[in-house]
Amino acid sequence: MAKTMAVNAGSSSLKFQLLEMPAEQVIAQGVIERIGMDDAIVTIKYGAEINAERLVGHSEDDEHITLSKDGKGKKYENVTAIKNHQQAINFMLQKLTDLGIIKDFNEITGVGHRVVAGGEWFNHSVVVTDEVLAKIDRLADYAPLHNPANAMGIRAFQKLLPDALSVAVFDTSFHQTMPDENFLYALPYEYYTRYGARKYGAHGTSHRYVASRAAELLGKDLKSLKLITLHLGAGASITAIKDGKSLDTSMGFSPLAGVAMATRSGDVDASLVYYIQEREGLTNEEMLNILNKKSGLLGISTISSDMRDLLDVQDTNEHANMAIRIFINRVVKYVGQYVAEMGGVDAIVFTAGIGENSVPVRKMIIDKLNYFGVKLDEEKNNVRGKEVEISTNDSKVKALLIPTNEELMIARDVESLKA
Ligand code: ADP
Repeated sequence: MAKTMAVNAGSSSLKFQLLEMPAEQVIAQGVIERIGMDDAIVTIKYGAEINAERLVGHSEDDEHITLSKDGKGKKYENVTAIKNHQQAINFMLQKLTDLGIIKDFNEITGVGHRVVAGGEWFNHSVVVTDEVLAKIDRLADYAPLHNPANAMGIRAFQKLLPDALSVAVFDTSFHQTMPDENFLYALPYEYYTRYGARKYGAHGTSHRYVASRAAELLGKDLKSLKLITLHLGAGASITAIKDGKSLDTSMGFSPLAGVAMATRSGDVDASLVYYIQEREGLTNEEMLNILNKKSGLLGISTISSDMRDLLDVQDTNEHANMAIRIFINRVVKYVGQYVAEMGGVDAIVFTAGIGENSVPVRKMIIDKLNYFGVKLDEEKNNVRGKEVEISTNDSKVKALLIPTNEELMIARDVESLKA
């Protein structure tokens, strides 16, 4: 059966998932971290169908395989020198072969790449051509840390798997349906036409996936629903989805905007940025670094960017408590805005690290949204990482927990472009 790889290439890491398609079965997943270093880390997890004889066992060097408790899953780990993305991908493909996960590189007939910025050029996933690659390169202005790495991943795969269909799946494309009153900032219009200064949003693949699953779980046509999807991870964004299309989203020109996140500030009065910058004598880059890396939950709590750490000490640590309240407050405000914008809502959907795993955070948010008819079933909410309706049976507005699956969405896009 044809295998498709979903790839997320960062500047020094590469995450992948290998799926059997169209069966949508994950056969391996992994990550290569610290690319460019002598001690890069390769991790590959794979499943039950692999022959136990192939285990290389614990060896004296860093290469080893461990078994999961039930003996079905296996994890290959290695620490080795990896110079660049091409070497990383070559190593990974070779390992997939050695481990018996694939027999031949050519079994991989499609590779879908996550690309962060698609600007206004891409409103859906596309087969990568030279022209597409050139555009991804040019869009590096919008995502300087991500697009160049995404493009590097695409080029490296194209060299190693020249016959596989190469597809780009953009974080922003789902949000291209936003109307101008939502995507434009109230700045001089010429900045939009000259520089593309507008809201693009992000996490589009995740919002698109959970919205389609929500419609399936509710047994309704997606086009007939008003949904608010809450992607609450280290990065967090909220999207209003009407008639199956993104109507508005909380992230902006970049992922810095919107709700307070693990280390990102979310929305801030722009004039305050200059006020602080001047007094602290910070360069633009330093200021942007503070807004992106030192703010949010970390900035307010002063102790951690991880919601789990803050929940642990919320009763004794005032700053942790404050950070949680700010996080909840921003989420609740965005949901309120989107209910108003859509003229109602049928369901709100929780996903990503915090949304999928935090029972108390979901409760804190829903308890503040009772006014528009969503009621939490505390027993049903007492769950992590499972697809489930968490609202009461008589809740007018439904609340759902849907683990996101961007890799599956990417693989489906590759499939649909193969035809
Ligand atoms: P990203 O993909 O943006 O890096 P994830 O969606 O993986 O983020 O989410 C990671 C975040 O999820 C972590 O910062 C952590 O705070 C949060 N998280 C994971 N598990 C829990 C939990 N049980 N309770 C609260 N927060 C959690």
